[in-house]
Amino acid sequence: SFSADAVPKAPEDPLFGLMAAYRKDTDERKVDLGIGAYRDDNAKPWVLPVVKKADDILRNDPALNHEYLPIAGLSEFTSAAARLILGADSPAIAENRTCSLQTVSGTGAVHLGALFLARFYPGKPTVYFSNPTWANHNQIFSNVHLPIATYPYFSKSTKGLDWEGMKQAVTDAPEHSIILLHACAHNPTGVDLTKAQWKELASVMKQNSHFPFFDCAYQGFASGDLAKDAWALRYFVEQGFELCVAQSFAKNFGLYGERAGCFHFVTGPGTDSQNTITRIASQLAILQRSEISNPPAYGARIASLVLNDQALFAEWEENLRTMSGRIISMRTALRGKLEELKTPGTWNHITDQIGMFSFTGLSEKQVLQLRETAHIYMTKNGRISMAGLNTRNVEYVAKAIDKVVK
Ligand code: PLP
Repeated sequence: SFSADAVPKAPEDPLFGLMAAYRKDTDERKVDLGIGAYRDDNAKPWVLPVVKKADDILRNDPALNHEYLPIAGLSEFTSAAARLILGADSPAIAENRTCSLQTVSGTGAVHLGALFLARFYPGKPTVYFSNPTWANHNQIFSNVHLPIATYPYFSKSTKGLDWEGMKQAVTDAPEHSIILLHACAHNPTGVDLTKAQWKELASVMKQNSHFPFFDCAYQGFASGDLAKDAWALRYFVEQGFELCVAQSFAKNFGLYGERAGCFHFVTGPGTDSQNTITRIASQLAILQRSEISNPPAYGARIASLVLNDQALFAEWEENLRTMSGRIISMRTALRGKLEELKTPGTWNHITDQIGMFSFTGLSEKQVLQLRETAHIYMTKNGRISMAGLNTRNVEYVAKAIDKVVK
């Protein structure tokens, strides 16, 4: 029988513990490099000006109400989301080979995809993640009882991609495995594949009939160019893969707490693909119904307004360039200062990596030292959130890193 007393205490989420420690720290020099959210040059959350505009439009709309959205979400939003990630001229959209459901942000999209695959993908396939990956991937796929494994990804020596290791592992995985891929701006390493590597990966995956599951949490946020950040995924679609996509609007719209996201399933080209997609959509809707009934409306309405209006869309692209540009300039500044200080080691990886995070290569001991001596907070694996750096603290951080490395 169930005994509430017997429920063991779960370990604390490490990121949560880090945030609590940061908040408690009263030193005015403290720096938060743990956060997975954008901060402006004043270390403050940034409401995108285009989001503020959309918000004003929504609030002043006399027709706005709080009715339920349909199970699959706001259709103007999900269709615009599909065009955004797949490309407006995607053959998959033209041929009606896609279905899209609005989800509870990117996390909900990964979960819905995991649940669907656990139910319908024959033979209990193993899901392969990069080592390391976003910690939640492990939990989400384990929760639906799919076996999980990893492929090598990060090379400690180059602080770049372990391409040979990755390719070998994907080649060796049993046929029809599910390969989880970060569409761009890999979290936590900031290391992405080159176009040539993506092409080779697609070819290896084709040969082995693997199923790609793309997690896309940073489109436009990585490079500032929406098409560039979606290139890999579009290439796989072009190659005729059947695949799915978890799409988050948390980072690129700064809509973290509003939980705007989308799950897309794309079937391969074929005569019966439209019927297939209708059946898949019907099953996804049933799963969604039992999980959340209907997705949250507010964030999706904001994103939808922007995605479906040419002028607002152009302004959004400008806002994306502001965020990605600031982050890229912080990469240049941090690398420059470390090189100026002649900090032992090489620091080119800071500018080679892309997106919200950088895997610095700092050891756990150095990370703890930084926290204790300089009040600089980052995760134990040496990952720093580039958004936590700004023109006023980057030199302080570089000097502190220099001290613990020397
Ligand atoms: N996937 C990756 C790789 C991420 O880094 C994140 C956010 O940090 C997510 C998914 C999902 O985020 P959210 O649920 O806030 O959209």
